[in-house]
Amino acid sequence: MSTATTAHTAALVRGYEVVIGLETHAQLSTRSKIFSGASTAFGAEPNTQACAVDLALPGTLPVMNRAAVERAIRFGLAVGAKVAPLSIFARKNYFYPDLPKGYQISQYEIPVVQGGRVEFRLGEVRKTVHLTRAHLEEDAGKSLHEDYHGQSGIDLNRAGTPLLEIVTEPDMRSAAEAVEYARALHALVMWLDICDGNMQEGSFRCDANVSVRKPGAPFGTRREIKNLNSFRFMQQAIEFEVNWQIDRIEDGLPIEQATVLFNPDTGETRAMRTKEDAHDYRYFPDPDLPPLVIAPEWVERVRAAMPELPGAMAERFQRDDGLPADDAAMMTQSLATARYYEAARDACGAPKLVANWVMGEISKRLNAEGRTIDASPVPAVALARLIGRIQDGTISNNAARQVFDALWAGESTDVDALIEAKGLKQMNDTGALEKIVDEVIAANTKSVEEYRAGKEKAFNALVGQVMKASRGKANPAQVNELLKLRLG
Ligand code: ADP
Ligand code: MG
Repeated sequence: MSTATTAHTAALVRGYEVVIGLETHAQLSTRSKIFSGASTAFGAEPNTQACAVDLALPGTLPVMNRAAVERAIRFGLAVGAKVAPLSIFARKNYFYPDLPKGYQISQYEIPVVQGGRVEFRLGEVRKTVHLTRAHLEEDAGKSLHEDYHGQSGIDLNRAGTPLLEIVTEPDMRSAAEAVEYARALHALVMWLDICDGNMQEGSFRCDANVSVRKPGAPFGTRREIKNLNSFRFMQQAIEFEVNWQIDRIEDGLPIEQATVLFNPDTGETRAMRTKEDAHDYRYFPDPDLPPLVIAPEWVERVRAAMPELPGAMAERFQRDDGLPADDAAMMTQSLATARYYEAARDACGAPKLVANWVMGEISKRLNAEGRTIDASPVPAVALARLIGRIQDGTISNNAARQVFDALWAGESTDVDALIEAKGLKQMNDTGALEKIVDEVIAANTKSVEEYRAGKEKAFNALVGQVMKASRGKANPAQVNELLKLRLG
């Protein structure tokens, strides 16, 4: 396996190199808004959760929410960025029905998080995407176009919800790489507990800036696909966009910088507006907010409370538990998975077997039922006990699967009681097993002769007969041993 960081080796598309930079809006999981005490809870009646500050009504003043800043610091530390000791809030001026105050408070020239990187694996290759910045800003309201009898409604509940906008360098070279970066970032913000990651509710949404060029040529003009809220849509949208741009270039037509929307029903991207430049927004420092000053002591306090990061934890699982790299990556795909793995491992002392169950049976069922591991009906300690009972020879692997089914179905969480109730105990009584072996040998003279004549298949048939006679409770290894002994 290659561990080299190869940033620019993606295959060309129809002879063109794809260039992608992502801007991600992660909604910060604070209880109140970024500059007011209004609630951020999702799903309230429209227009019940925007207060006078969120709407910038005359006479109100915004006050920075410390919890939002702290989440930005946590993110900055996790990606190895510089946490700016002083950053500035600016007004980004534009009109839109869901932004009646006419400006969005954001950060422009001096953002709170500067630089940093996100590392992830694309197949066997380790990738690094460099971050330009991450800045704090407020969200706008929402336009509602459905269920309004042909009219649009405005819901301002979301106005003032804290966002961290995370901007990458144009480092990605394929749709697949952009998706893997987005997945890694999504896992990281949830791991850090700064964002709930709920993409259906819009808590994590990406804009993909896409351009193409001939290898070695300067960057092409980009178009920005707005508001991608699923990884599948991101993949489809970028692939469509890349082909659309190549078609145009091949037809001798220019690419105009534009903002485009992806339509999941048609799988196409369509221009929404030609892209504004920064100067169109007339950014200026917000006179209502002082500079955001972050003292080194604050950064250190946040650092001291940081959880172990997924990369470090995966390395630990490889080093201390002997897990293969793929298993370690899987066991750290979410904090809940890591907690589950560690609890089961501690209880049974068999890391690789725990990883096998988590990656196999458990993932399969969680995926099928659309659940996450914290909602697994099989507690980590029950899985550990089940593994222990396979290891000490109490049950066979086949029987273990039956016990697992029962655990999953919620019949009980007591593994030993289930083994007992279902009569799944392996036959460890050598005397009883010897008796069955002798009976099988006596009743299957043809197979015995064939085996003695050198036919391996005949031996397997005998093993099968013994297993059947024991109703699956015999220990296959023991059956093999006994048969060999008896047949000489
Ligand atoms: P803006 O301020 O207009 O949003 P930026 O220069 O900050 O533009 O870039 C926004 C995003 O576009 C960044 O993620 C950046 O990496 C990406 N980007 C810039 N140039 C290109 C390009 N030629 N092709 C693809 N992505 C690009
Ligand atoms: Mg932008």
